[in-house]
Amino acid sequence: MKEDWNHLINRNDNDNPVVPRLIYLDNAATTPTSPEVIEAMLPFYENRYGNPSATYDLGQKSKNAIEEVRELIADAIGAMPREIYFTAGGSESDNWALRGVAEGLGFRGNHIITSKIEHHAILRTCEYLEQNGYDITYLDVDEWGMVSLEQLRRSIRPDTILISVMAANNEMGTIQPITRIGAIARHYGIPFHTDAVQAFAQIPIQVKLQNIDMLSASAHKFRGPKGVGFLYVRENKRIPPLIHGGGQERHVRAGTENVPGIVGMGKAVELAMKSLQQRMTKESSLRDYLINQILNTIPDCRLNGSRNNRLPNNADFCFAGIEGGNLLVMLDADGICASAGSACSSGDAKPSHVLTAMGIPEELCRGAIRLTLNETITKEQIDFTVKKMAENISILRGEAS
Ligand SMILES: *Cc1c(COP(=O)(O)O)cnc(C)c1O
Repeated sequence: MKEDWNHLINRNDNDNPVVPRLIYLDNAATTPTSPEVIEAMLPFYENRYGNPSATYDLGQKSKNAIEEVRELIADAIGAMPREIYFTAGGSESDNWALRGVAEGLGFRGNHIITSKIEHHAILRTCEYLEQNGYDITYLDVDEWGMVSLEQLRRSIRPDTILISVMAANNEMGTIQPITRIGAIARHYGIPFHTDAVQAFAQIPIQVKLQNIDMLSASAHKFRGPKGVGFLYVRENKRIPPLIHGGGQERHVRAGTENVPGIVGMGKAVELAMKSLQQRMTKESSLRDYLINQILNTIPDCRLNGSRNNRLPNNADFCFAGIEGGNLLVMLDADGICASAGSACSSGDAKPSHVLTAMGIPEELCRGAIRLTLNETITKEQIDFTVKKMAENISILRGEAS
């Protein structure tokens, strides 16, 4: 008997005749924008188009709207509103944090500590800084993807001006011990930046309690709009301007604010914070179900990253004897969106820098597949996905009859 799975698949992409139905399991790449977010943004494209710098009421209404978002975000991470700067997303926040500190504190030293598994927004900026005379230490990670606090301590020098370690990894989901890293940074008086683009709105973060001096986040990773994010900078840490011009963002990032985007991000933060605990519980139980199903159903497969100390929505695997990219194409034909490693490096022929840093052999890295959930995914959709993965992997391995 032929099973009918069609009713299980979200009809959320009806405009696309090529892929009429989708099971979207690539939420680490980007997330579907919440309908409430779109609704909150619309008036700022329609009637509420005033420039926040204008003094008449229409302008001040826009100004008030973005200042409310600044308060909301500050509240969500335990910061003050004047410590939040709006940016065009995670990459910009990461670039600004690193280049800003390098420029601002270059007189004190030229040494920066980061990890081998950072997002390219950090790694490529570090390469740029290296070309400009900065010395970068890239911390190793263990087989679970955790940095060593001991190696961090040993790497600190009198000329170290910044420690930047991501809060959680975008590929295999391991959560770093940022509270302890923050304590070490504080002990030595070194600013600590964390790329929290994957972690913010997924796990609780409190910048003051965790001794975080700078934090990057991006709205489209938590069901907000694309092209907007923020950088938190602790009040006593000055950051040089990123864009020169008008006086927006306390004179450090000029340009008329992306008012609809910022308002949309605010709505996404509000929704995310309200549901944080409940989403963490729901997603981590779905994630564990998915991980168990895959490990029990598909032979020659390993879970990448820590079993428990991982983002609630992340499941990342290596399958021996296949190319992840080929599996992606087959899953796409079945209406399933997944990722082979990180979105930004797919298309590269090189195996993932994150997986190789964890000591996974290159051969096995080629068979990497990442599945990242959101709270709308159902158990039945997971069952369907596991079934399709098992079938397709068996075809790719040449086992199918
Ligand atoms: C997505 C991502 C970024 C980049 O954010 P954008 O808003 O897409 O520029 C940076 N760091 C991490 C960990 C990410 O997952």
